[in-house]
Amino acid sequence: MKHFGLNIWGDNNFIIDHDTINVNHASRPSLLQITQKIREKGYKGPLLLRFPHLIKKQISTLFTTFEKAKKEFDYKGNFQAVFPLKVNQFPNFIESLIEVSQAYNYGLEAGSKAELIIAMSKTPLEAPITVNGFKDKEMISLCFIAAKMGHNITVTIEGLGELETIIQVNHELNDGLDTPIVPKIGVRIRLHSTGIGIWAKSGGYGSKFGLTSTELLEAYEMLKKHTLLSYLWMIHFHIGSQMSDIAPLKKALREAGNIYAELKKRGADALGAINIGGGLAVEYSQHEGKTERNYSLQEFANDVVFLMQEIAKSKGVDEPDIFTESGRYIAASHSVLVAPVLELFSQEYNEKGLRLKEKNPPLIEELNDLYTSLSRKHAREYLHDALDHMESLLTLFDLGYIDLEDRSNTEILVNLIIKKAIFLLQNEGTDELKKLQDRIQEKYLVNFSAFESLPDFWGLAQHFPVMPLDRLNEKPTNPASIWDITCDSDGEIGFNRNLPLYLHDIDVSKEEYFLAFFLTGAYQEVLGMKHNLFTHPTEAVIGFDDEGNYTVDKLIEAQNLMDILDDLDYDTHLIDKTLTYRIEASKHLSKEEKQALLDKLYLYLSENSYLKTIQAIDERE
Ligand SMILES: *Cc1c(COP(=O)(O)O)cnc(C)c1O
Repeated sequence: MKHFGLNIWGDNNFIIDHDTINVNHASRPSLLQITQKIREKGYKGPLLLRFPHLIKKQISTLFTTFEKAKKEFDYKGNFQAVFPLKVNQFPNFIESLIEVSQAYNYGLEAGSKAELIIAMSKTPLEAPITVNGFKDKEMISLCFIAAKMGHNITVTIEGLGELETIIQVNHELNDGLDTPIVPKIGVRIRLHSTGIGIWAKSGGYGSKFGLTSTELLEAYEMLKKHTLLSYLWMIHFHIGSQMSDIAPLKKALREAGNIYAELKKRGADALGAINIGGGLAVEYSQHEGKTERNYSLQEFANDVVFLMQEIAKSKGVDEPDIFTESGRYIAASHSVLVAPVLELFSQEYNEKGLRLKEKNPPLIEELNDLYTSLSRKHAREYLHDALDHMESLLTLFDLGYIDLEDRSNTEILVNLIIKKAIFLLQNEGTDELKKLQDRIQEKYLVNFSAFESLPDFWGLAQHFPVMPLDRLNEKPTNPASIWDITCDSDGEIGFNRNLPLYLHDIDVSKEEYFLAFFLTGAYQEVLGMKHNLFTHPTEAVIGFDDEGNYTVDKLIEAQNLMDILDDLDYDTHLIDKTLTYRIEASKHLSKEEKQALLDKLYLYLSENSYLKTIQAIDERE
């Protein structure tokens, strides 16, 4: 795993410069430099750094790639795109996205009423809004209100019931008006084909969304009967997220393209767009040979344009506008989670920890000899001997023949021997050595919550690239597992022999060591859960000024303890009163002591729940 696979997942967004990982933009600041600047202001714990220039890069790449495909095939329809809000609704992200996308008439997609309100208030009037998902009468009325405001909005019907509601709302809000205003109407079709991968459930006959062919024909009749056919303008499908393979998309495009052409020939004259949903994959892999997608963006765009053109030609209809709702592709790269390492768990396995006695059990003497005389030539043989001795010593302990100190010496010596042998034999790379890495893996305790910040790792074992911020000129040698600070054993990214992660051997009592998790900008933030009441981390927007220097803007600190409880609907006034009363009423405290404790308590209540450091580190100073 050279350079932590940066060449596979990095997309030239970051570069390694000497010993640090740097932003590959403008003055190329290191992530370490940015992190330290924010920490100097007193913000400890994990930090979420957002980079608007990376949002801009994705949007402009999407548009220029499709423009190129259109040009190559001389395609007549327009290319348009919206960002699906469910992927990331956080204001620092959405406001940056709106700001950097002005040149593209880029819009938003909403799947709920709250998302629709974001879209109605943040999207420029001319930019498209699409509305998907299940809708009640209120939500459909909101779509009419948006249209009446002047928004370019398309409401996608997912079932015939929704169409009935549209007809009803249209009567209520437009009857008797000189200029009735109706949102554009889209229909989501239920595809025969499905995507593949862990997120593929959104397509196919078993999908919870979309109209079957029979329902589609019925919808057509209903629209015609209620003189709404002139608003039907979009066919929509979505085959699932993180498409690893392009083949299912091609099948879906053929299906949707033919449905478009058939409806158009039937008399749906206003029909003019195919919305292909999202699904464009992000390369999360950190390891050669384990990549997650088999196509390039250009191939994707060419396929879409070519297939639509082919169908339009053969059926003799106009080439439709092409809409995409790619979300993961736009948002994933924009944020980096930086988290401090608090502790290396197995550092107790060092020579200093040995408690050898004047007279040790013979097998321990032998282990000690093996350790001190271990050389390249005998490494494998000594290693086997050591493992054998360990089994015997542990049995002796169980039978009561050796004491706890002997057992501790056994653990330390065997661990040291394995480490040394792996180091001496590192160029041999046999399966046996790989297996032994599990035994000597170092557990890195990291100040973050995997539940809050990487929920798709917890729920779906989705891998996110991870690497340290510095020491990149040194080869990392510790097989590493990452432990978060929740009290839950699922908050662990275990060492995986097939996707190994190696980190540096460091002494956190002497120096700081930070890990960065990349490609966390899509889905992770709002899916994150407050397990143990660790909340959304402190975040900042990293911009660049005219000289190319970076700026830290829109800093939002993680919620403080009282706000967290307030969110759970605790009566925080009562909590406050109770705590104060209990200190003031305590019999054993002097007046001064009470005041000092209250001061401390109020300081802590104003802070967030992440650790500032851990006790062990303070004591080591
Ligand atoms: C979730 C969703 C998207 C976004 O999918 P990505 O894989 O993130 O691009 C687009 N359209 C619809 C209808 C969705 O439900």
